[in-house]
Amino acid sequence: MSERFFVDQPIHGDTAALIGDEARHLTAVMRCQVGDEVLLFDGSGAEFAATITSIAKHSVQLSINERCEVSRELPFPLTLAVALPKGDRQKWLVEKITELGVTRLVPIVTEHGVAQPVESALERLRRGVLEASKQCGRNRLLEIAEPQEATDLFASLATAAVRLIAHPTGRPLAEFFSPPPPSGIIAAIGPEGGFTDAEVAAALANGWQPVSLGSRILRVETAAIAIAAWASCQEGTNQV
Ligand code: SAH
Repeated sequence: MSERFFVDQPIHGDTAALIGDEARHLTAVMRCQVGDEVLLFDGSGAEFAATITSIAKHSVQLSINERCEVSRELPFPLTLAVALPKGDRQKWLVEKITELGVTRLVPIVTEHGVAQPVESALERLRRGVLEASKQCGRNRLLEIAEPQEATDLFASLATAAVRLIAHPTGRPLAEFFSPPPPSGIIAAIGPEGGFTDAEVAAALANGWQPVSLGSRILRVETAAIAIAAWASCQEGTNQV
């Protein structure tokens, strides 16, 4: 696969421009030259073969040679609602779930949560989504949604997806994926200190189903990745 660059405006027509970090990455890191061919994506689901036509100090101009619709998404939408861990573990989680094809991440605010999902932290995570998407070939970006109180999320019924709460006493994950539900899955993962009894009760009262990820207690990011990896391994078994 050629080197991939992200264009933060929808690509229409036969030219595109890279600015800011992406332009710097192309010139200073990848040392690309006028005439080189690269791949562009704009998050719309397509990727574009493009030739560099000019390089200026802060921008790069390209001409589009070909547009291809290439989906590297999961066969069903997967949303993870996660009480984010702190610092590097949060960054690592987002990188890995992007690679594994997760559709949407909803940071949840829980009673025992340790990391406040403030806007600056979410912006850093969005940058991490871009980096991981460039590397793994995804043409749609993992969406990082606005943070929600866990109990509000549990009470909201505005989804057709199968709703799961990761809890060691639940049923095995495999039961919910065979066959994968076409309307998707939303799975909630608690903080290091666990969901409170009241949070679990709110989820169960609203039809969320407890799912077990095995007999060991996993860290938040391991639990998120376990679900995402399972979903990713279903690809090709039931395309919907
Ligand atoms: N100290 C907590 C553990 C929290 S682990 C306790 O003893 O309950 C962080 C979150 O990961 C949990 O809230 C749960 O959502 C998820 N998790 C961890 N291990 C799990 C397992 N084996 N099965 C299902 N969910 C798990």
